[in-house]
Amino acid sequence: MTASEDRSAWLKGGDAHCEDSCAHPTQPIRLVLLGPPGSGKGTQAVTICERYGCCHLSTGDVFRFAKRVGATTPAMRVALEAMQRGDLVGDNMVTDIVRDRTRCMLCGHGFLLDGFPRTGAQAEALDLLLQELGVKFDAAVFLRVDENILIERLTGRRSCPGCGSIFHMVFHPPTMEGRCDGCGGELVQRGDDRIEAVTRRLEIWRETESVLLAHYRERGLALEISADGSPAAVFEAIVAALAKRLESAAPSIPA
Ligand code: AMP
Repeated sequence: MTASEDRSAWLKGGDAHCEDSCAHPTQPIRLVLLGPPGSGKGTQAVTICERYGCCHLSTGDVFRFAKRVGATTPAMRVALEAMQRGDLVGDNMVTDIVRDRTRCMLCGHGFLLDGFPRTGAQAEALDLLLQELGVKFDAAVFLRVDENILIERLTGRRSCPGCGSIFHMVFHPPTMEGRCDGCGGELVQRGDDRIEAVTRRLEIWRETESVLLAHYRERGLALEISADGSPAAVFEAIVAALAKRLESAAPSIPA
C-alpha cells in the first residue's frame, strides 16, 4: 500500500486537493501517535504510513509549511511566533487547522495524526470532530520509553549547522570527534537538547501524557507500546499490537 505522496490537502487546508484520489479500496487505518521527545515518533510515523498506506498528518508540518511559504493570516503569524519560542500554539488555532482539513479525516487512505492532540482540550475537540464526521479511529498509540533512555538519547545528540547531519555521541558517533563526517564542520548541541531544556521538555510531556493516556484509556483506544528498543523492534511491537486490535475491532467508518 502507498500513502498519498502529495499531502497538499493537509499542508494547505481549505479547498486544496492531493493529486491522487482520496478513494482507496482497502480498509484504511486511522491512528493517533503519541510519544515523548526522543521516543522515535517521527521515524515510526514514516514506517507506519509506509506499511499501512495511511497519510501522515503532522500539525507541526502544517506550521513548518506555512513558515516556508510565508504565513498568510494574522492568526498563523501568531502561531508561528509561539512555535519559534518553543511554546505550544493555542488550542483554538490548532483545532481550527484540523477542522479546516476534514477532507483528510475522511480520506480513503486513512490517517496517522502526529503531534495532535497535545492537550485534553484538543483530544475533546478531535472526538467531537470525528463524531460529527461519523469516523471512528482505531487506536491512540503511546510510545513509552524509560526516562533515563530518553535523556541519554536527547543529550547525546549533536548536529552539523553546515549540512544538517545528525550524530549521537554513543549510538552514531562521527569518525573524528566533534567533526561532521559529511562536510567536516564543527558539531554542536542544539539548545533544546541541553540537559536543562531536556528536563523541561520531559516534564511537559509527562503532564501531557497523563491527561491523554487517561482520555484514551477511558475510551478503550490507548495502545501502549514499550519503545525502549531499536526502531525495528518498536515497529514490530506496534504492528503486532495493531493486528490484535484490528482483529477485534469494528470498521473505523460505520457502514
Ligand atoms: P512538532 O513537529 O509536532 O514537534 O511541532 C512543532 C511545533 O508546532 C510545536 O513545538 C508547537 O509549537 C507547534 N504545534 C504542533 N502541533 C501542535 C499542537 N497540537 N498543539 C500546539 N502546538 C502545536
